[in-house]
Amino acid sequence: MINDALLKAIEIELNGSCRRLRFMQQLETRFESDTQRRRSRHLVVAGLLAIPIYFLFLINDYGFRSDVFTTVLCLRVGSVVFFGLPIYWLVYRGVLPHLREMLMASVIVMTMLISCLILVSSNALYSYFDVFSFGLVLVAGNIFLPLRFLYACAASAISILIMAAFVVGYEPMPLEAKKLALLTILATTLFTLVTNYRLERSERISYLLVLREQIRAGYYLKDNQALSRLSMTDPLTNIANRRQFDALLATRWQEAAEQSTCLGLMVVDIDYFKAYNDYYGHLQGDKCLRKVAGAMQADSRDTDLVARFGGEEFVVLMAEATATSAQQAAERIRQSVEALQIPNAGHSSHSVITVSVGVATLCPSDRLTSADLLAYADSALYIAKQQGRNRSWVADTGVLLSSANAIN
Ligand code: GH3
Ligand code: MG
Ligand code: MG
Repeated sequence: MINDALLKAIEIELNGSCRRLRFMQQLETRFESDTQRRRSRHLVVAGLLAIPIYFLFLINDYGFRSDVFTTVLCLRVGSVVFFGLPIYWLVYRGVLPHLREMLMASVIVMTMLISCLILVSSNALYSYFDVFSFGLVLVAGNIFLPLRFLYACAASAISILIMAAFVVGYEPMPLEAKKLALLTILATTLFTLVTNYRLERSERISYLLVLREQIRAGYYLKDNQALSRLSMTDPLTNIANRRQFDALLATRWQEAAEQSTCLGLMVVDIDYFKAYNDYYGHLQGDKCLRKVAGAMQADSRDTDLVARFGGEEFVVLMAEATATSAQQAAERIRQSVEALQIPNAGHSSHSVITVSVGVATLCPSDRLTSADLLAYADSALYIAKQQGRNRSWVADTGVLLSSANAIN
């Protein structure tokens, strides 16, 4: 289920307050798969903890019915070893949810059955006192484990029937005591089932609330990623903006210092763009900026960062550059903009949009900063403009050793 649909389903379930104790199909499947492992372990741990308590009642057996103690010992130990433990093992290994609940419910029913068999195995005077502790079996099943509600109901009903069948026919027990015992077990069933229902309901509600928060957190994360992408992108041209350039320049400068490589930088400025804007209008000017940005992006390596620096000025940051490779890249970009053949009648009737490019290459050292790279490239641009535009000019470190690459 995609997250939107899942969120909707969660809201519906939460509004219904999970009274049915069963979610709609897909949510129920997810609930099961998310909780199955934990629940299986939890059931087995609770079942194992109940075993010592179960054996503790041997003390009582010894006191009340020492005549049949060996039989009782066999019944208790045998039921745990041959029934309880194999079932715990199966549940621990993992079985389908319905089977898991059914198996654990059968442990409860079996415990009640064994307790009744122990009861009727002796006619000792106080043996029937045990009956008043039978409610503990249901406390274990409905609250301590606890079984899922429907299985708790089924296990409780079967247990009561078994108990009633044995107790009613048990001669040594006075009638009034039988009535009290049955009443007590009914009351215990009622109380424990109501508690069981509430436990399962709050477990399900908690599950939904946590799931909802997880999904929302996922959305916030996506929103944040989208926001940070937005904050790094120039909205007009859709290429990187100055913020992204500044961040990447610092990182690349650091990397170049560590790897002893050089960084190349171009500053690209559209020629006579004011005239273009004045002639064609700002909207057309924006279109032109997008085209130029697209051409620059298309003509750069994937590892280069093309960014809009501001207005009609762009920068291209090149990792692992040499003076020659940077100069070639600058020429490529200059030519690709010229090849767009965007008329600039604002400047002159037969001219097209061109760019001037200032290029610098620096290898980081203690004496230099990334700002120097920008300063050198900017100075080179200034010279390219002075030299007549539509050209690239390469600056070298220190003195501006420049080589013109005039085209016209
Ligand atoms: P040069 O060849 O010396 O670079 O001349 P130029 O006219 O290109 O330079 P100038 O700095 O005089 O003018 C730049 C123009 O760029 C001014 C402004 O109208 C235009 N401009 C800056 N930002 C935008 C923008 O976002 N959209 C549009 N349409 N025009 C812009
Ligand atoms: Mg310009
Ligand atoms: Mg400019």
